[in-house]
Amino acid sequence: PDVDLPIHDAVLSSAARYGERTALIDGITGERVSYARLAASVERVAAGLAEAGVRKGDVVALFSPNSVAYPMAYYGATRAGATVTTVSSLSTPGELAGQLGDSDARWLITVSPFLPTAVAAADLLAGTGRPLLGTIVLDGAEGHISLADLLATTGPAPEPAIDPGEDIAVLPYSSGTTGLPKGVMLTHRSIATNLAQTDALYRPAEGERVLAVLPFFHIYGLTALLNQPLRCGATVVVLPRFDLEQFCRTIEQHRVQGLVVAPPIVLALAKHPLVEGFDLSSVEYLLCAAAPLDHELAETCARRLGLPHLLQGYGMTELSPVTHVVSPTDRDPSPGSVGRMVPSTELRITALDGSGDDLGPGEQGELLIRGPQVMKGYFGRPSETAAMVDADGWLHTGDIGHVDERGYLFVVDRVKELIKYKGYQVAPAELEAVLLGHPEIADAAVIGVPDADGTECPKAFVVRVPGSGLTAEEVTGYVAGQVAPYKKVRAVEFVDAVPKSAAGKILRRELRAREADRAGAAS
Ligand code: ATP
Ligand code: MG
Repeated sequence: PDVDLPIHDAVLSSAARYGERTALIDGITGERVSYARLAASVERVAAGLAEAGVRKGDVVALFSPNSVAYPMAYYGATRAGATVTTVSSLSTPGELAGQLGDSDARWLITVSPFLPTAVAAADLLAGTGRPLLGTIVLDGAEGHISLADLLATTGPAPEPAIDPGEDIAVLPYSSGTTGLPKGVMLTHRSIATNLAQTDALYRPAEGERVLAVLPFFHIYGLTALLNQPLRCGATVVVLPRFDLEQFCRTIEQHRVQGLVVAPPIVLALAKHPLVEGFDLSSVEYLLCAAAPLDHELAETCARRLGLPHLLQGYGMTELSPVTHVVSPTDRDPSPGSVGRMVPSTELRITALDGSGDDLGPGEQGELLIRGPQVMKGYFGRPSETAAMVDADGWLHTGDIGHVDERGYLFVVDRVKELIKYKGYQVAPAELEAVLLGHPEIADAAVIGVPDADGTECPKAFVVRVPGSGLTAEEVTGYVAGQVAPYKKVRAVEFVDAVPKSAAGKILRRELRAREADRAGAAS
């Protein structure tokens, strides 16, 4: 792929290469969209948006669940020269208004079920002096332009002069796992470059069917399930949300070969009895990223799917997003690793003791990355950008890991999440992995809670499998039997569910806020 072409170009040129091959299948209705139709739709949407008033450089917010229309809107907007800011489908009016305001969005593209949220957000914005110029409702709503209207545009598509190295193609927001989500400026070139880098390790084959259940609004789904497969001639089977039964049925029905998921889906595939009822033999690989994945859980899942092992990848919004991935053709990846580094990327691992010294293979520290996929910056946040990317171009990931002698990376957890127990540091992800090994534990999350003598103790939030009478003592005893004494879980609370983001990350800050509220109420 030419890294100096805008991101929609790959999709438009796919039409010439793959023509009537199926680009997209709606997993619910079975509707199919060919490459030719997708490209024609992108051209029409661009023309329609330009006619509606969208200009080069305008920020267009895309607030929709996954659908076959999503890529038409997304590439149609970039084709018109706009920057697309993708919005989480779970957003409340306040969150949507926050992102629209923060990204300085001028246009909103949404769907009719989300219209009440969109209207409420627009009201919140009305007083700010930068109101929206228009709202497009893909499936149609009284008084709004629809996708059908855009597709019916007869005029020519605009020809904005896009500078791939400068112009922002996508302004996705980081997941907000550790704080407020931040708008990440990704140029056409940084995205195209990262796709080319990823090609070296992972690239779906022409005609390969991949299942898109991860949300397109998050950079992982956007890249791995739209940008990447649609330039390879693959077929993307689209589901609007994760429902285990529907997920398995769709795999069976469409003989899906490639699964790209996050840890909660691996957890469900490994542990839920429902999976046994489906023929998932078409699956050739399962790639998991976005959060720490327990190796044993991964193995259990692989066995159930009849795969030699699961593939993992690592990345972040600020890295366009991939730096490491286990290749499907790799016969002997280091077990539990997130893979090898993509080309033209540099990695440093620095000591966590405050010295910042560089560490060697096997030594654990903070991961620093440098390469052409590093973001241009956070939108409107120069000081946060400077805190993240240093003067030499190294991006400080805030993640802890190590590489083995063969160059495979292992990611442990985030620096910020480490529990400081006396002089020790405990990674919550490690304890969560131990907990998930218990047959009566369906899900678990661990945070540090302050204790009377000023240290932090690991506290586990545990979801029991239905019908289990597991006690807190049994949980602490189980963990104590498997970890060094300083890592012991010292408090247990049973909960109905672990809070997770739409991209599949445990929201430990929500658990910490709950604890703080309770401590406040008690004092
Ligand atoms: P925010 O930056 O807003 O707090 P976030 O860091 O979760 O949220 P993303 O950019 O979506 O936002 O996620 C990137 C992070 O996800 C990485 O920094 C890392 O902590 C985690 N991550 C990604 N892949 C893996 C993986 N394979 N194993 C462990 N952690 C991973
Ligand atoms: Mg982050």
